[in-house]
Amino acid sequence: MRKGKIQKDIKMPSMTKIRLFRRLLLGWYKNNGRIFPWRNKSATNYELIIAEILLQRTRAETVAEFYKDFVKRFPSWKKLAAARERDLSVFLRPIGLWRRRSRSLRLLANLISRRNGKFPRHREEINALPGVGQYIANAVLLFCYQKPQPLLDINMARVLERVFGPRKLSDIRYDPYLQYLSSIAVKCRKPRELNWAVLDLAAIICKDNEPRCNNCPLKIICSYRRKTITYKSKSGLLK
Ligand code: SF4
Repeated sequence: MRKGKIQKDIKMPSMTKIRLFRRLLLGWYKNNGRIFPWRNKSATNYELIIAEILLQRTRAETVAEFYKDFVKRFPSWKKLAAARERDLSVFLRPIGLWRRRSRSLRLLANLISRRNGKFPRHREEINALPGVGQYIANAVLLFCYQKPQPLLDINMARVLERVFGPRKLSDIRYDPYLQYLSSIAVKCRKPRELNWAVLDLAAIICKDNEPRCNNCPLKIICSYRRKTITYKSKSGLLK
């Protein structure tokens, strides 16, 4: 997404606000980030990418319950490619869509194990892999090639929209504002941590129905909170 084109069409937040967003979030994450096995310093690229595939449409706490056993049973793309459907189903059935997930996981594992466990480097080639959408392609670039890419899902979208303002299109994959904003937001020295920080804030503080703004590290820069306070004060709800 090119900066010049986006800025011509859509008003983007200032870099000062984006820098503050990164700083406040990373500061909060240091003491409040969730601990998951795939976030260990020793996690391999295989373990990181498998985690992201399992996390799609599934709560992190649910994946954490079986993740260690999963990587013990299938410790590499090669072992995963050779997995029998009924062995995979033990892990995937509880998280839904298990037949579809198992099919695309084995197809992907087959391909990657034939490449000696290495993903392609270029986005077009990554996108062409079975079962790989924008989110997983970004995860591959982020974890395997240290590119600052956003793990943009509905949770990250919610935080960004509340802090910076709403998107224009309903599908986050095609919304140019969110796509550009998320890519700039994670463009820092610690893109992994920044991504995890946003996702953790969405899970712990900036919840869908009940944002806990008073406990939020971003409250001083958040548009949603400012509007809520203005509305409450105008309608006499703030004493
Ligand atoms: S201040 Fe409230 S709405 Fe804004 S990011 Fe924090 S929890 Fe979410």
